[in-house]
Amino acid sequence: MKRDYYEILGVGREASQEEIKKAYRRLALKYHPDRNQGSRDSEEKFKEVVEAYSVLSDPEKRRTYDLYGHQGLEGRFDFQSNWGDFFTGFDDIISSFFGFGRKESSRERGDDIWVEAELSLEEAAMGVEKEVEIERWSLCEHCGGSGAEPGSGMKKCPMCGGTGKVIEGHLFVRFSRTCPKCGGKGFVPKERCKVCGGSGFVRQRKKMKVRIPAGIDDGSRLVLRGEGDIGKNGGPRGDLYVVMRVKKHQVFTREGSNLYMNLKIDYLTAILGGKVNLKDLYGENFTLEISGGTQPGTVIRVRKRGMPEMREKSKGDLFVKIYVEIPRKLSRKEREYLQKLKSLKEGERLFN
Ligand SMILES: [Zn+2]
Ligand SMILES: [Zn+2]
Repeated sequence: MKRDYYEILGVGREASQEEIKKAYRRLALKYHPDRNQGSRDSEEKFKEVVEAYSVLSDPEKRRTYDLYGHQGLEGRFDFQSNWGDFFTGFDDIISSFFGFGRKESSRERGDDIWVEAELSLEEAAMGVEKEVEIERWSLCEHCGGSGAEPGSGMKKCPMCGGTGKVIEGHLFVRFSRTCPKCGGKGFVPKERCKVCGGSGFVRQRKKMKVRIPAGIDDGSRLVLRGEGDIGKNGGPRGDLYVVMRVKKHQVFTREGSNLYMNLKIDYLTAILGGKVNLKDLYGENFTLEISGGTQPGTVIRVRKRGMPEMREKSKGDLFVKIYVEIPRKLSRKEREYLQKLKSLKEGERLFN
């Protein structure tokens, strides 16, 4: 039993052409095979919608349908004969047009897309949600992916005459290849979609939020499956790869899960020892103990203040390399004391 065309499109019997067109576009997009991969049910629904629209958008067919129902159409508008010998029925027209049904093999997965996400070292250490903007191929919403200007319908391909194949060569050497104009479909839109130019696809910008886990390293990538370019003929979307670009930090450099920093201390602290207050990458204050007699170039290891280890629930270490600052200028007082200190040292040497 065939369903009522108005019911299929969800419009009233008094619906205007504009309302019918709107309903068609909405439903064609919803059930389009490119959006419902492998769903038999939505494929059936999609065919129903296209068929209903092809009748209700044509004033003459619509009048006949209103008066006589499905039977009236079968007598007067024979879908099969409209398309010549090359098609055996309406189903084939739809399936060859949209490239599904019997032509399973022509499904093509969409391309992968690569984008970069730039983050600070702090963001890499603590994890962050980043917004990335991508540009990818998607179905044209204006024509529902058909490539035809809504309401214009289809016509037999003028290049191949509806066969989907063109014959080349002469006499005994003849071969056929897929028609380049219709891509083997056998027919082309009467009027090309004004938005996509007939391809059925448009470039679409999209902002996406990406959850970046704590501890991620520069150059590593996250994969978002099925967020790449749309596939051809109902094939699945490609994947989206987000590549991390971690910016250089002014204080800390990273190696694996360890962090490194340089610290200048004055010569008195180096000689006598002391405490230096520091902030780690997480903004947390801590005190670094400098023992008396610390040599320039000494590296002090501070445990668990490095980068997070992605697999274990722990952190690497922070290594602080000590630079000792020798004053370029001294006050008179300082000079006096240092002179005395020097004499003291020389005296010691004298008496030893
Ligand atoms: Zn053709
Ligand atoms: Zn379009």
